[in-house]
Amino acid sequence: MRQKLVAGNWKMHGGLATNQDLLQAIVAGSAVLRGVSVAVFVPYPYLFQAQSILSATPVAWGAQNVSEYPQGAYTGEVSVSMLQDFACRYVLVGHSERRSIYGESDAVVAEKFSLALSSGLLPVLCVGETLSERESGATIQVVSSQIRAVLDKVGVTAFSTAVVAYEPVWAIGTGRTASSEQAQEVHAAIRALIASFDPEVAQKLQILYGGSVKPSNAAELFAMPDIDGGLVGGASLVAADFLAICSAAVC
Ligand code: PEP
Repeated sequence: MRQKLVAGNWKMHGGLATNQDLLQAIVAGSAVLRGVSVAVFVPYPYLFQAQSILSATPVAWGAQNVSEYPQGAYTGEVSVSMLQDFACRYVLVGHSERRSIYGESDAVVAEKFSLALSSGLLPVLCVGETLSERESGATIQVVSSQIRAVLDKVGVTAFSTAVVAYEPVWAIGTGRTASSEQAQEVHAAIRALIASFDPEVAQKLQILYGGSVKPSNAAELFAMPDIDGGLVGGASLVAADFLAICSAAVC
């Protein structure tokens, strides 16, 4: 059985004092949870703080983005080796806010995925359709082509040390969640796509759902056979809500 993973994406929120309270509450609250992995994706400046507070705990941490270049004259960018300096386990690649606001293409996302993986980080590949794509019946095609762009670059074996997060764009930060059936349908299609290349990798692949996950809907989503946990934005900033979502992932 696949281990569930619940990860908080703090986006551009936080501050030293509030982070400390939040991280300490997550450590305390998650200590009693069995069979679920917990992670937080913090803004770059707080990686050192996350490392200091979380190092001796089971809670993992990571960054929300990384450069597609290993080093060089890329003002404002952060490299994989810099993330490794702060012992990140995970890194998000291709979050829809990166794709839509910063114009990250499938090709750039694939570069980031590849570089992260070859440096020993676990990339969390975010994919998902817009509302108009869903309404035109293109959901599976859009999500498949986002994954194919990475598969074509790195091959299926790379997915044995990666995570996929299905995040319908229309559900992110909107309070509108995909129904558990809608999410399951896409998760199953993602697993089937990976299985068409390697069934064993597909069976082991953690596929998270993201998009307005809340304490009130987490259990239903996590009960679906192909939903292996959640990527949580807004609700991950409130310790009690995030911990309630983590508890919903306990089998
Ligand atoms: C996200 O940022 O990945 C996300 C899913 O946000 P929210 O939970 O706020 O919809």
